[in-house]
Amino acid sequence: MGLVESLTTKNRQRLEAIANKQRSVLGFKAFELFPAQALAKHFKATIFTPEIVPNAESEQIEILSNSDNWSAGIIKNNPLWIIHNSRHALTRQESNLMHEFAHVILKHKMVGYDPKKGLPQRRQQDEDEAVYLGGCLQIPRRGLLWAKQRKMTISQIALHFNASEEMVRFRSNVNSIFL
Ligand SMILES: [Zn+2]
Repeated sequence: MGLVESLTTKNRQRLEAIANKQRSVLGFKAFELFPAQALAKHFKATIFTPEIVPNAESEQIEILSNSDNWSAGIIKNNPLWIIHNSRHALTRQESNLMHEFAHVILKHKMVGYDPKKGLPQRRQQDEDEAVYLGGCLQIPRRGLLWAKQRKMTISQIALHFNASEEMVRFRSNVNSIFL
């Protein structure tokens, strides 16, 4: 996750604020686990795996079902349909979905299609913002400070927020909160 340099400090602060607002709108405090499912309900999204997505080409299903090399994508906007890779670790699935909801929250447009996977492509800046916002949604800065105050370890924090330890380290580094 080397995207910190690509986003300005101001932009990162903006994304952190957007995450805080989104959590608070749905009644989640900064220290609470915020499941992607809460966002799915809020945005009335249906989450698919390749095997159950309606009207998909069999060749496309084949590619997606047998590959670790993709995370998730929005395949329809209204109603919102998200396809995701259930082969990834559960914590990664959670951050993959957060990433897609970040695109939704930020109203990012797609700029093309990956012809093989049938998934949308976006500007690199939008991708970086979605990665960053996804992380803020999973582990807000204030949630991390709360965890530090309680002297929680990286693995305890990961478990608490249903995030990967890599994500905890990333959030810790970008916020200069050393655990
Ligand atoms: Zn993306």
